[in-house]
Amino acid sequence: MLRPQAGACFALWPSSTVARVPHGSLRLGVFGGTFDPPHVGHLVTAINVRHALVLDTVLLMVANQPWQKLGSRPITSASQRLAMVRAAVADVPGLEAGDLEIVHGGPSYTADTLEALQRVHPGAQLFTIMGDDAAAHFYTWERYQQVAALSTLVVVDRPGNHVELPSGFDWERVEVPRLDVSSTDLRDRVVDGRPLDYLVTAPVLAMISELGLYQEGG
Ligand code: ATP
Ligand code: MG
Repeated sequence: MLRPQAGACFALWPSSTVARVPHGSLRLGVFGGTFDPPHVGHLVTAINVRHALVLDTVLLMVANQPWQKLGSRPITSASQRLAMVRAAVADVPGLEAGDLEIVHGGPSYTADTLEALQRVHPGAQLFTIMGDDAAAHFYTWERYQQVAALSTLVVVDRPGNHVELPSGFDWERVEVPRLDVSSTDLRDRVVDGRPLDYLVTAPVLAMISELGLYQEGG
């Protein structure tokens, strides 16, 4: 178990169990998303990027306010989305739910998150992981130059969505199994009464059912 280093702000990292394997500086992946809900596409991506790039930990960083999605549909509360991600990664070595953006509050910007991680883990190598749909719009991210300066940009192939990557950045491409699943489709499935089994983990499925999520659509 890795502790934040001396002088770091513990409040930023209240539930850290970030683990480190002994090969030099900490290599930390940040896979940000709304995770409404988290699905097997997210998990297969995170586990394969961790393996391919020999990362100590991949944080599935739950956006507090996904500012690019606000207004487009009702978004499940941050605490419920965090609970689902925690349930999804429980007992999976090397994957952790990240609550930093929720603790920070307000709109969630990856540049802020990377800055905070740098303070908590000085000397760590940071990797910002995204699907190629997200990469295609990288220019629209708040302070994207800072994101590129603070981390290695990692893009994974996303089903049926091959896009030109924005030029001027050193993209690290990682091939992962292509799973044609999205949170949008899962929410639609709940509305239509179609099964979600095997598209989300069993504990996440149980939470969706117990909390009555996505019944209203949106
Ligand atoms: P929504 O349909 O609501 O947009 P989503 O399934 O795209 O949800 P997000 O939380 O928006 O999930 O995405 C978080 C990150 O996961 C993004 O970088 C996105 O590109 C990536 N991602 C989403 N689905 C997949 C998938 N099936 N395979 C690989 N990456 C994915
Ligand atoms: Mg998305």
